[in-house]
Amino acid sequence: MRNKDTKMKNLAILAPKITTIPIVGSSDSFPVRRIYCIGRNYADHTIEMGGNPDRESPFFFQKNSNNADSSGEFPYPTETNDVHYEVELTIALKSGGKNITEENANSHIFGYAVGLDMTRRDLQSEMKALRRPWEIGKSFERSAPIGEITRFEEVGYMDSGLIELKVNGNVKQTGDLNQMIWKVPEIIAYLSRFYDIDGGDLIMSGTPAGVGPVVKGDQIVASVKDLPDLKILVV
Ligand code: MN
Repeated sequence: MRNKDTKMKNLAILAPKITTIPIVGSSDSFPVRRIYCIGRNYADHTIEMGGNPDRESPFFFQKNSNNADSSGEFPYPTETNDVHYEVELTIALKSGGKNITEENANSHIFGYAVGLDMTRRDLQSEMKALRRPWEIGKSFERSAPIGEITRFEEVGYMDSGLIELKVNGNVKQTGDLNQMIWKVPEIIAYLSRFYDIDGGDLIMSGTPAGVGPVVKGDQIVASVKDLPDLKILVV
């Protein structure tokens, strides 16, 4: 609904900064609106987390838009002793809507990046045991390191290819995008039934098996075929 008062009101405090992600080969950057994350979207990771990999309805949580970070550093967060990496193909949307069909879903994709769903696993496990929301384990400062975004036009629709994560040169996670239980168009269609998704949204599409802890000084290299590596130093 239109506000009757069409005169722009002065903001009482400084407007919060928009978080942006760099784009490959461009001086433009991508403004982040929301960050949706899907849980347990690779069967082998579902099993390692004690779940059932049969195809049930997908489930989601969100990070805050300003949890996205492309600084190349991940400050070890507070109130935890067990921070885990999760490498994820991250989909950046240029547009959105409600009740998007799977057939139309790809037309909303701006591009792709390698992302990390950093997780305070100890806090997440406590919340799971208490049947409380995962928020405190998932949504915290700089919990979503994101690499440069490659435009859809350059890579086409990504539904297969190696996804991998190394810590200090040792391979910890490896999988193939074709192992996703819920495919990207299905994820977009499903999300749009529950939310008004829109340009600026990022979707983190789940992680393969092999999640584990990092400590200060670790160098993480996360990669997905055809996308620039995401290199993160834990500080
Ligand atoms: Mn995840």
